Amino acid sequence: MESIQAIKGMNDILPDQIQWWQLVERTARTILENFGYREIRTPILEKTELFSRSIGENTDIVEKEMYTFADRKGEWLTLRPEATASIVRAFIQHNLQADPLARKFYAMGPMFRYERPQKGRYRQFYQLDAEVFGVEDPMLDAELMNMLRVFLEQLGLSGVVLHINSLGCPECRTPYRSVLQKFLVENAADFCPDCQRRLHVNPLRVFDCKVERCQKIIENAPMLLDSICEDCRDHFEAVRSYLERLQTKYEINPRMVRGLDYYMRTTFEIITDRLGAQNAVGGGGRYDGLVRDLGGPDLPGIGFAIGMERLILLLQQQRTEPKRSPSMFIALLGDRAKQEGFLIAQQLRSIGIETELDYAKHSLKSQMRRADKLTARYVLILGDDEILAGVAQFRDMESKSQSTIPLDRVVPMIKNTIENNAETAAND
Ligand code: AMP
Repeated sequence: MESIQAIKGMNDILPDQIQWWQLVERTARTILENFGYREIRTPILEKTELFSRSIGENTDIVEKEMYTFADRKGEWLTLRPEATASIVRAFIQHNLQADPLARKFYAMGPMFRYERPQKGRYRQFYQLDAEVFGVEDPMLDAELMNMLRVFLEQLGLSGVVLHINSLGCPECRTPYRSVLQKFLVENAADFCPDCQRRLHVNPLRVFDCKVERCQKIIENAPMLLDSICEDCRDHFEAVRSYLERLQTKYEINPRMVRGLDYYMRTTFEIITDRLGAQNAVGGGGRYDGLVRDLGGPDLPGIGFAIGMERLILLLQQQRTEPKRSPSMFIALLGDRAKQEGFLIAQQLRSIGIETELDYAKHSLKSQMRRADKLTARYVLILGDDEILAGVAQFRDMESKSQSTIPLDRVVPMIKNTIENNAETAAND
């Protein structure tokens, strides 16, 4: 019978890759919690309106990329294409502004966009997401970007650049929009069909266009950063100076607009030149009007999202594989040995020693090969003869030394050896 395949652009993450994911997730939790963020988990499915209202009707995500369908009662639902809208919704719905501890949130999980799959671009992909509500101070913008830097450094990632920009506020964006539109209309004939439409409905989105000839034209377009109001300029300058105090390097990219309408003032992206066409590892920015626009209190907000697949692709180019090995493998030869080994394995696990054993009566040679493959540090060899003699063989796979240990002392002796070796390794 023909086997069923996964949906195009949706990947299985198999055990031989999972160390990378766990490394990223572990590091993210440690760093973000250290900066005061607390985890939030929201549903993968939301009402479609949540995304069309927040991300913007005339964005690529809402126009072309959402997985939207009617449920059995005809309600329109969408698989989340990003996390911010859901977290804002949860914040409002649970009245979290009343809780002084609930200001900084993070989330990790799958997002869904109907894009053309290629390396670093998938239809289901994972994001690490962070959001903060209620702080307007530019100190936070810089702290957030600095946190990202610390996170990436901790993972051992290099060669990425932080791009920053300011998108101003609605007051300075409205007049700019007309100036930009005038420029775009003058050049309308040369734009791709998508941009010809965008320039009427949402001119800023022209900056997102990937078509080369559109990119060429907008190189000469008037820049929003040149016409932001005094308050926005002060805010941007303050962000820059805080970044400099934290020695977080950045480049100003006045053409970066981000693909979602809710952004204002500070926006940023982490850019790489090592992933082919996909140059953004992550990005984010301020969205001071969004909480209010989604029916909540008028609180400022700021956040970012990192694409985990892209981050892992980069890490794989740059560092050795994070390995996970059991400490112990128990090789079993014979039925009595099996009975004894079965119990020893549970005892070792119960004191926190990761232990694997043979279930299938393989030869000693093939069991040792398996222990080797699993990169187990120690192997306990139990044979029926040994059991009768009340002993077991204990082998250190690193030093290749082997000793005979009494069966009734197996668990404490293994515990001691592992602890002593760990201590020696730590002191080396
Ligand atoms: P965005 O919300 O579009 O700014 O996305 C934030 C980050 O998510 C990007 O910088 C990417 O790392 C990642 N990302 C976005 N779309 C995809 C996708 N289709 N496949 C893989 N990663 C993605």
